[in-house]
Amino acid sequence: MALKEIKILPDKILREKSVPVEKVNNEIRKLMDDMLQTMYAAPGIGLAAIQIGIPKRVVVMDLSKDKEKKDPFYFVNPEIVWKSENLVSYEEGCLSIPNQFAEIDRPEKCHVKFLDYFGKQQLIKADGLFSTCIQHEIDHLNGILFIDYLSKLKKNMIIKKLSKQKKELERIIV
Ligand code: ZN
Repeated sequence: MALKEIKILPDKILREKSVPVEKVNNEIRKLMDDMLQTMYAAPGIGLAAIQIGIPKRVVVMDLSKDKEKKDPFYFVNPEIVWKSENLVSYEEGCLSIPNQFAEIDRPEKCHVKFLDYFGKQQLIKADGLFSTCIQHEIDHLNGILFIDYLSKLKKNMIIKKLSKQKKELERIIV
């Protein structure tokens, strides 16, 4: 396993649409292992492959509160096949948009079809935090970020802030 660098906004790769995985082989499993390790180290509760610069439809998640008892989930080619009309609101953040948070409404429940770590077809009925998190990650696979649900003004403020942070960081390195 290897730690990968997480891509940060305004990195344009975050806007790329990821492509489906043809076969869950050892290469994809290695990618999932690396993603999980990178997510735990960040730390975060979800990570899409595009966030480490790989435009493949792969997501890892772990919502367990107890760090001793890990409960990883692996999703290859996840697809929402049903979502509830009822919405729920969570304050969301993103490893690619550091230190920025906003309340976002999303369907409270959803059903997700995906291939697991071994390439087996699965269907999961998600609700609450799990539902919000998998929707946030599937958005990443389509180049969508949580700030896209905000007003233009709020969204531009966040992008400006992050662009400035990036410049300052570069200044220090130089
Ligand atoms: Zn994110």
